[in-house]
Amino acid sequence: MTGDMTETRTDVPTAPAGEVVNALSFDIEDWFHLVEIDAVADTRQWETFPSIVEQRTDEILEICGRHGVSATFYFLGWIAERYPSLVRRVVDAGHEIGTHSYWHRKVCDLDESAFREDLLRSIRVIEDAGGSAVTSFRAPSFSITPGAEWAFDVLLDAGLRYDASLFPVARENGGYPCVETPHHFDGAPSGRTMPELPMSLMRLGPKRVGFSGGGYLRLFPTWLIHHGFRSLNRRGIPGVVYLHPRDFAPDCPVVPMSRPRRFKCYVGLSSTAPKLESILSRYRFASCGEVMAASLPDLETA
Ligand SMILES: [Zn+2]
Repeated sequence: MTGDMTETRTDVPTAPAGEVVNALSFDIEDWFHLVEIDAVADTRQWETFPSIVEQRTDEILEICGRHGVSATFYFLGWIAERYPSLVRRVVDAGHEIGTHSYWHRKVCDLDESAFREDLLRSIRVIEDAGGSAVTSFRAPSFSITPGAEWAFDVLLDAGLRYDASLFPVARENGGYPCVETPHHFDGAPSGRTMPELPMSLMRLGPKRVGFSGGGYLRLFPTWLIHHGFRSLNRRGIPGVVYLHPRDFAPDCPVVPMSRPRRFKCYVGLSSTAPKLESILSRYRFASCGEVMAASLPDLETA
């Protein structure tokens, strides 16, 4: 891919007005919460880094407010504990809150008891900060991978109503082959099922790729992102946007890492806000919980 892929075109066809409501979500972490990057792996250093999370999350809240959409904000527990007023602002603005774990460790690198401890700690601090129930989980780097299905039992035991962690094709740091639409995940060892909102894919030649969040959204041109949403919505499938505060921060500190990873982490940072505004202007969006309730009518209500 070349840098040209980040250029935007203005001749985006208008999407047909449909009834499909897409899911809008943000993983609220800081620029130094990167998995498997040695330069930021020492958690004791995190306190010493300058933070961008409040400023950029407030910008996200402003964009959501201007477009009149609600979203799900998956807070890192570490963030919620240090910036409780930020969690409160998100809740007060009418958004749903979820957990993105406490320490931002990959689920597939943990055992069941370590994941349970991390998850419960995150739920406690996020709920304390926001005064609102946490009802869903997103794994750091979509790291519920084959073999880590036990994580669903931990999520169910914690009382969470649905999960939004599965990325339906393999990727660098995760991925789980699964149905590409909201469904009841039935692979938990206990036999219980968990409502699942998987990330969105589109066909690109022979491949299925993400397009609606993170580095994919920053890399791909706006017209291609629109193509992805239109093709999903035409089939009645909700798309899932997932972005981070650092995706909106062209000035965020650059962490030393391999050249390919650096490209993925920092390409197109100044394009995120205009791309998000473009899709919010053309398609219907709501929080993940609202999309799940519409997609799976038998979803248990809290
Ligand atoms: Zn994350």
